[in-house]
Amino acid sequence: MKKDYWFTEKPLPGTKFDGYFKIKVKKKIASFKTPFQRGEVLDTFGYGRVLVLDGIIQLSEKDEFIYHEMIAHLPLFYHSNPEKILIIGGGDGGVLKEVLKHPLKEAYLVEIDKKVIEISKKYLPFVSKKAFDDKRAKIFIEDGLKFVKKYKNFFDVIIVDCTDPGGPSLSLFSRKFYQDIFSALKKNGIMITQSGTFYYQSFHIKKIFKTLKKIFPFVKIHRAANPCFEEAEFSFILASKKINLNKRDFLKIKSRFKKIKLRTEYYSPEIHLASGILPKIYEIK
Ligand code: SAM
Repeated sequence: MKKDYWFTEKPLPGTKFDGYFKIKVKKKIASFKTPFQRGEVLDTFGYGRVLVLDGIIQLSEKDEFIYHEMIAHLPLFYHSNPEKILIIGGGDGGVLKEVLKHPLKEAYLVEIDKKVIEISKKYLPFVSKKAFDDKRAKIFIEDGLKFVKKYKNFFDVIIVDCTDPGGPSLSLFSRKFYQDIFSALKKNGIMITQSGTFYYQSFHIKKIFKTLKKIFPFVKIHRAANPCFEEAEFSFILASKKINLNKRDFLKIKSRFKKIKLRTEYYSPEIHLASGILPKIYEIK
């Protein structure tokens, strides 16, 4: 009988996790190596197709909508009229698919590794659902760090959908990069970044939160449980130039959600509010 094949995730960068997250694999669909990273697409029993970069799970077919809906719709609903959006990273197209559900003028996506886009279109088409073909989407193959420096007072929302700190994404967690994001945003602009899991990556969340606090007047953490990420409970950090993230009008979010007839499976106006409430142990002073 063929031996079972289990994918074992590497400990997340910077953590000392001594347990391991494993998924039973049906079949390896593809593997690749680029100047930036190694990657593979696996077909698994519990999670369907899974994208792995440098040994870390990026998304799964079963639950990609949770992460993508949250990182896209939280900032787009905190903002009252988002028109120009920038996604940094996000080569799988999941965030692009979600932001394009809004009546935007343009969504820019800057991905450092064109192979991630090619592989995702070919083997994970359910993630982008043809978002790359939308006329409002403008795709750039470039380092997000350099790209963002070229814009001043230009974007309403910037979404940092990058890999965990390490490899090409390391600089996307620096103070300098957040300062450039601040300058690239319009005066009432908002940014969001993925910031890892709450328990084993708490040092990472604290560092991002404190760095952003030195630049933006309003910074807020939200959470969502995304089963294919080790520990599941995952964090997102938002930072805003002018809009007070602690004073959003629930009824306004609800009426816009209805008006644009947004179809989501996880995000809702109620989840928008609830996901911003943290248990005491996760609060950062
Ligand atoms: N959902 C994700 C997770 O679990 O962290 C992120 C997914 S998305 C595939 C991350 C993308 O960020 C990768 O395709 C990677 O190539 C891209 N990326 C990393 N560093 C980058 C940089 N400096 N500029 C632009 N894109 C970058």
